[in-house]
Amino acid sequence: MIRLSKSSISAAERKAVDGVLQREYLGMGDEVGQFEEMLSSFLGRPAIAVCNGTAALHLAIQACGIGHGDEVLVPTLTYVASYQAIAATGAKPVACDIKDNTLMIDCADAEKRITTRTKAIMPVYYTGGVGNITEVEVFAQKHSLRVIADAAHAFGSTYNGRRIGSFGDINCFSFDGIKNITCGEGGCIVTNDQAIIEKVKDARLLGVTKDSDNRYAGKRTWEFDVTEQGWRYHMSNIMAAIGIEQFKRLDSFATTRKYLASLYDKLFADCEDIITIQHDYSTVVPHIYVVRLRTTRSRDEIRRELLERGIQTGIHYQLNHTLTMFHDPAAAPFPVAEKVYPRLISIPLHTDLSEDDVRQVARTLKEIVSLSNTIHQ
Ligand SMILES: *Cc1c(COP(=O)(O)O)cnc(C)c1O
Repeated sequence: MIRLSKSSISAAERKAVDGVLQREYLGMGDEVGQFEEMLSSFLGRPAIAVCNGTAALHLAIQACGIGHGDEVLVPTLTYVASYQAIAATGAKPVACDIKDNTLMIDCADAEKRITTRTKAIMPVYYTGGVGNITEVEVFAQKHSLRVIADAAHAFGSTYNGRRIGSFGDINCFSFDGIKNITCGEGGCIVTNDQAIIEKVKDARLLGVTKDSDNRYAGKRTWEFDVTEQGWRYHMSNIMAAIGIEQFKRLDSFATTRKYLASLYDKLFADCEDIITIQHDYSTVVPHIYVVRLRTTRSRDEIRRELLERGIQTGIHYQLNHTLTMFHDPAAAPFPVAEKVYPRLISIPLHTDLSEDDVRQVARTLKEIVSLSNTIHQ
């Protein structure tokens, strides 16, 4: 079976976790501080580690003072984590349509959905590409919005020669089991806004003020004040130990992901029924590889056939405006997302995939799609 995605764990991660277990200090301490320092020096600005990417988004939105009665613009094509993170603050996620080429938020569509309650825009760097960040920044400035980027897919990617996370308002990353690097579960908030940094540092520790530095030193604060709503969102030493070793492997992971995605691009170049997303893989570290199928057969049938032939696939993602919790009957339609969604399919991409695996996946998908198109012509 060729898996859709998986973690890649070496002896180094196992040894690092064992080290934490042997020291028997499992909670938030030295390793978390070290991991944050690594992230901060990589991105050139403060990074605060938390228990997952959803928590990172939730804390970032909360720290901006966004909550009940506020609205956040977010593309409908994203993991439900983006939506739940917004909803967790009491704010309303306002679904927006996507652009046909990048499959990322369409600012022209977003503009139509702005109200007096709109406080932020959450671009989602879908698959690891980032679309036109400058356009989003200009849009946000024009409407006085915060930009809280869901950069869960884009760790390691760059834009105009700068690393994602090293510029812009607020960027949130995920280090869950299958992301570009993993902590098992984990995430971080990166920003130059010192007030946001101070708020999320406390809010991840139940709102206990100024406890982080004690934790890094293996201590904790026994008497304290709490001034704002906090959550149990800190990262543990076990997770950070994995993250530290994974971070050291980022270059190698990125090289492999870029190479395999470029190979898929090349193999699909002669097939007009399989449309790839146009990414420049010299700058994009792809988290997933998504194609759009041009076929009369249902995606389910094609996915079933692929599975029978030993290839796992996925769907990234069900459109959030179709979910009961986030459905708004008064919302304007989503023509691009609705057109694209039924044809989207994610095919295997991870760092333990061989070149032969990629060739086999591409050959099999091309066979199934072209065969089905001949039959139905
Ligand atoms: C993974 C992911 C998240 C959330 O990260 P978790 O660490 O799984 O909580 C958010 N948005 C997108 C697009 C993701 O893929």
